Amino acid sequence: MISMPEAIDMVLSRAPVLPVESVPFRDAIGRVLASDVFSPRPHPPFPASIMDGYAVRSVDCPGTLRVVGASRAGAPHDTHGSVESGTAVYITTGAPVPCWADAVVPVERIVTLKENTNVQIKVDASYKPGTNVRAVGSDIALHETLLFSGDVIGPHELGIAALAGIRNAETHASPRLAVLSTGDELVDPFSFGDVSGDDDENEPKRVASGSIYDANRHMLLAMAVEAGCVTTDLGIVKDDPLALACAIQNAVLTGADIIVASGGVSEGDKDYLKQVLLGEFSFDGQPDTVKGAIHFGRVLMKPGKPLTFGEIKTNTKTVLLFGLPGNPVSAAVTFALCVKPAVRRMSGYLNPHPPRIHAVLGHDIVLDHERPEYHRAVLHWPEGTVRDVQDKVDMTLGNCPYQVNLGTENLPTAISTGRQISSRLTSMKGAEVLLELPKGPGFCGKDTRVSALLIRGELGVSREMHMGRVRPVVTPAAAPTANHGVLGAAVAKTAGVTRNDSSCDSGKTRRRHGEKPKVITVVMHEMVPALNVDELLEESTIPDGERRVTDDGNDDGFAVLSAAIRVVAESNETSNSNIEGTWQVSQVFAESGTSASLATTIRHAACTSQIVLVAPSGPAGVSSQAAVVVGTDLGFPGLADRMRHGIEGVVSGDDKELNLKELADKHAGAGVGAGQVAGCVVLSVPPRNAYHAIKSGVQRMLVVPREKWEGLVL
Ligand code: AMP
Ligand code: MG
Repeated sequence: MISMPEAIDMVLSRAPVLPVESVPFRDAIGRVLASDVFSPRPHPPFPASIMDGYAVRSVDCPGTLRVVGASRAGAPHDTHGSVESGTAVYITTGAPVPCWADAVVPVERIVTLKENTNVQIKVDASYKPGTNVRAVGSDIALHETLLFSGDVIGPHELGIAALAGIRNAETHASPRLAVLSTGDELVDPFSFGDVSGDDDENEPKRVASGSIYDANRHMLLAMAVEAGCVTTDLGIVKDDPLALACAIQNAVLTGADIIVASGGVSEGDKDYLKQVLLGEFSFDGQPDTVKGAIHFGRVLMKPGKPLTFGEIKTNTKTVLLFGLPGNPVSAAVTFALCVKPAVRRMSGYLNPHPPRIHAVLGHDIVLDHERPEYHRAVLHWPEGTVRDVQDKVDMTLGNCPYQVNLGTENLPTAISTGRQISSRLTSMKGAEVLLELPKGPGFCGKDTRVSALLIRGELGVSREMHMGRVRPVVTPAAAPTANHGVLGAAVAKTAGVTRNDSSCDSGKTRRRHGEKPKVITVVMHEMVPALNVDELLEESTIPDGERRVTDDGNDDGFAVLSAAIRVVAESNETSNSNIEGTWQVSQVFAESGTSASLATTIRHAACTSQIVLVAPSGPAGVSSQAAVVVGTDLGFPGLADRMRHGIEGVVSGDDKELNLKELADKHAGAGVGAGQVAGCVVLSVPPRNAYHAIKSGVQRMLVVPREKWEGLVL
């Protein structure tokens, strides 16, 4: 497996700069100039007034002058020869200054002595020749180099060309990029339902069981347009070698320079893309099967390990083919890191790479054990008011404040977009940077300086989006969404419940840089129905007494979640007013109830929560216990004891479960029920008596400041 820098180098070494073509400047936004642009004429083309006032001879000032006419923008004064001395012409900003005049007196500086037909003005001061006059070519000189080869044409460059009267630009051609999605499960969300069938023609096609909507193609087409490509949509292609080969051939025939496919490059038995590209299939009646080469098929990175890069040679050119992994986040990240630089190199960019900046981590991030990770994050910028700068630097004349290094405090703070699993596309929402994190073990601590690749140009826009990311406490309860196990965003009293698919926050004003939100995340693997939190709080007992541990440990996520809400609601009500902010409860699902899957989910949830509660999983909650050990770095023996107490209450007297408990102890370490990772306390919750266990283990943590937790629990 090659590293990501090697992969990018390989791609760039095979991405040719495209030929030069002449296009109208106004159609050339985003293109790269292939030659310097010179001004064919000076600007202004005539001496022009800078002010509204009177054009005068400087030698006549001070004095009383007779007004003999007017020169307005677009309507010059018609006397260009010599005029008697002691005269002036009314003039507006940008109008030609008559050739006999050499200065303009602002209208505010004269006194009008007589009106109607015979107007005189009194000028009190003297004026040097050239005062308030823009000389010919003073903004743009004749033959001045206005734009340079390699400049990217943006709105300002277009304005400059227009001002100089230059119609056409010599630019590199824009790459033609074709996008296809592969997968038997994919349905196009934007194709309408079938009128002859059950579907409503105004609604997207329904997805049959096992199908999902195709996100990648639309996202990648939009990314390609943003990167400056001319795009072709090749649609959804079935996981079938012939269909794939035909789609690729079509793309080549339509003149694509780059083909971007998503899906079908992993290890599944229907992941055919690599074999098709290598021409390993022969199709009856199709002698011209695709025949290409693969330069790499796996990269040591996360997300995006199966990223594949190859080429197809035709008689006239070589077409680049990127096989992006199917998971939408992997597709988006690999496009940004590999496809976009190729597009930029082909478009003529001198530097095809995304800008790299430094940022300071706003919280701990657990590192992946095997691969370097590109972690999506948003940036908080330091306030940077003029006063801040003035306080720190000498602002006397000649000392430019921008040359002063204000130190790391001026770096932006990076905040994770939450759970980074590659299927969770919402982790790309608002993401401004990909943090370049090394592989683990361990974690990158809060305040660590890290490098980050900017993946979004318009920081202003993304900051707005970021502001929208902070979640207010929602009330009343929203309707639960069927089929997805989404918990209705229920809020009772002061305990809010959200899905932990982004950083949660307890309030807009309370967040400081790097401070983790006051969130307890409950990790579970079962789908839990919507809770009526009001009802829950009305009841004198919580449901965990009614719910029994089933053989596979399921059904208890509900008990833990409801117990957590109850404990949080009670704490928030009695909370010491010195403690800022209310707590929220958030819910996150592991992919399965195995300890490995739970451990991964714990580590991700830990990035955006102060406390993680792991709902019971496996017989007697053994898997969840083991997950706490696997997923955490530090134990909390004090809490562990309390938690263990609840667990022992369940397993005692049952030989089978006792054995399982021994098994758990063997794997997890005796008595472990609590740990710490990324500055977050993680607790596995006993299957029964969850309320009491959470209350004894957690409630005091909710009402004392974070910095005093160590003393509390150890
Ligand atoms: P694959 O790389 O084909 O094995 O796909 C990996 C995962 O990504 C699977 O869960 C797919 O269903 C999902 N996936 C593949 N293509 C798309 C797509 N175009 N849009 C959304 N999800 C996709
Ligand atoms: Mg697939």
